[in-house]
Amino acid sequence: MEADQSVLLLNTTFEPLTVVTARRALKLLFSKKAQSIEDGGAYIQTIRAKVRIPSVIQIVYYIKKPYLAPKFSKRSVFIRDSFNCQYCGRHNPKPTIDHIIPRSKGGKTCWNNVVTACHSCNNKKGDRSLKEAGMRLIKEPQDPKFLVYSALISPAKIKKWERYFHPEKQVDEVFRLDAAITEKLSLES
Ligand SMILES: [Zn+2]
Repeated sequence: MEADQSVLLLNTTFEPLTVVTARRALKLLFSKKAQSIEDGGAYIQTIRAKVRIPSVIQIVYYIKKPYLAPKFSKRSVFIRDSFNCQYCGRHNPKPTIDHIIPRSKGGKTCWNNVVTACHSCNNKKGDRSLKEAGMRLIKEPQDPKFLVYSALISPAKIKKWERYFHPEKQVDEVFRLDAAITEKLSLES
């Protein structure tokens, strides 16, 4: 089974719980322990039929997870930033790590000083501070409250699931939509 057929499992609160294989996801769906939220577009052939593989499923009963602070690693930083360069905002499946305050200037390797960067932005910034390089971050890097670690996570999947990992983005979209509708209504009246 391809890693790309991995499925995001959400809690009843829509919070991501983990990533499971397509087979495990289908088992959860068939046993009515989960419901499909988003289709993946791919199919799997079972003995009886061709079944659509979901991309996102939601567990039916709330799962209480013990709180574990995310562990800092290069991959965790990429996952926190959804493999998006924090300078130009572009998605990059093979990004680099950038120290905002360069290590040569005493910058630490920690959540608040390390971001995902594409090769070109990293080269452009070099061994300089933001001010010296005249560059800006798209957002301040923070300690993530939670992270879903899984070998089944791929950069492409993260991009697809971004709105589940960063629900605040969805809220922004709703606000924008609201503003657009309000504007439309005021123009019509
Ligand atoms: Zn970039």
